[in-house]
Amino acid sequence: MPDTDMNTSDLIVIGAGPGGYEIAARQAAEGRAVTLIERADLGGTCLNRGCIPTKCLCASASAILQAASAADFGVELGEVRPDYARAAARMRAVVAGLRDDVAAVTSKCNVVRGEARFLPDGTVAVGDEVYSAPKVLIATGSKPATLPVPGAELAITSDDFLCLDSLPQSVAVIGGGVIGLEFASIMAAFGVQVTVIEYCKEILPPFDREVAKRLRSMISRRSVKFIVGAAVTAIEEMPDGRRRVVYQGKKGPEAVEADAVLMAVGRRPVIPEGLAEAGIEVDARGRIVTDDTMQTTRPGVYAVGDCNGRMMLAHAASAQAEVALGADIRLDVIPSAVFCEPEAAMVGLTTEQAEAQGIAYKTSKAMFAANGKARAMGHADGLVKLVYDPETRRLLGCHIVGPHAADLVTEAAMAIATDSTVDTIGTTVVHGHPTLSEVVKSAARQAR
Ligand code: FAD
Repeated sequence: MPDTDMNTSDLIVIGAGPGGYEIAARQAAEGRAVTLIERADLGGTCLNRGCIPTKCLCASASAILQAASAADFGVELGEVRPDYARAAARMRAVVAGLRDDVAAVTSKCNVVRGEARFLPDGTVAVGDEVYSAPKVLIATGSKPATLPVPGAELAITSDDFLCLDSLPQSVAVIGGGVIGLEFASIMAAFGVQVTVIEYCKEILPPFDREVAKRLRSMISRRSVKFIVGAAVTAIEEMPDGRRRVVYQGKKGPEAVEADAVLMAVGRRPVIPEGLAEAGIEVDARGRIVTDDTMQTTRPGVYAVGDCNGRMMLAHAASAQAEVALGADIRLDVIPSAVFCEPEAAMVGLTTEQAEAQGIAYKTSKAMFAANGKARAMGHADGLVKLVYDPETRRLLGCHIVGPHAADLVTEAAMAIATDSTVDTIGTTVVHGHPTLSEVVKSAARQAR
């Protein structure tokens, strides 16, 4: 018999990724009764198959590149021999440690292991147990998408890639978005021959075109080949077991041959069973429909993170969960980054978006090449580009390609979220010297 008291709480959270576990832990720490339901590992995609494992591999890639240029910095290391098995083992150890931390921070929640499904009355069932609460937060995340082309099953996904202990000699990456580029950058450092095939005319479709183009040229110098404007039509297995990716190029059908194919064409929402019966609407693309407070079409039930498809980023998921619980957060100012070598990051409007929305704008730029810290680090390639309102001088967007771009963009996020001007960054705020942040300041000073 179910224990009714045990199963009634103040809040039910389905999914222990960043959209779910952080808010569950915080609410429980504040004394609320929280039921947190997870069918797999605590930490979700972000910790187990996403942000953290890839950043571990990015760190290994960066160590290889640093070691390869160590002699320039006065350190003779001899031959650099990348060891992917050790990099993968380190990645798994970091993930396991952080998973323990998630277990510790959620210890005040009633953590239920199993698959949650909705019942028509809005309660939530796991096996034979039924759970109820005045507020339910769905944070069930997403899974890799795949192209509907013949032979798609011959490709591996990012989930599969992160289970590998050795790397193929050559890999064709389908998709030049954030995930495809991070893996391409990692593999190139480990000596894999990488070809990225992108459908659009330029990689990283949501990013500023100038930044994306520059990033492509910088990664190309590390022997990654890019094919853009190419629609993949099939993946074939060759007699020797290798793969052939057939695509429609500018001159007709062409193909790339490689030992393996990584499919990195985006992600699809994962949703619990029983949503329709419980009156929770899902759109044609499988995303749970939400209003600005993240409430679904059933009052009291909220959907945050990848499952609502608004912005598939870990920090967007956590921020949306806070909004669902009543916090006042600027969800329209969310930075995003690609952690390849070098990094690229953006926040706010691109010039393309400003044009499409009929918003007047001007841009200003500064190069890392003129920055003392970047030169000292030996990473002086890249730029900071600001988009601002010519009348009010309010900052509208910031686009960076270069060292530590993902960290640097936070200053611009702060400025945009607080309606600050380029002059706040360029004049009012003193930036330390020598720091990379001086490039952001220089870009702001160029705003005339
Ligand atoms: P998830 O993290 O996917 O968590 C959902 C959880 O719900 C899962 O644990 C799942 O098991 C559970 N679940 C699903 N259905 C049920 C059910 N019915 N019952 C019980 N439990 C259920 N984002 C960044 O911001 N920065 C990055 O650097 C970054 N790198 C990435 C790299 C890769 C390779 C990938 C794939 C993603 C990356 N992301 C990154 C995206 C980020 O991982 C996601 O945006 C984030 O994890 C979404 O959080 P979430 O809580 O919505 O869902």
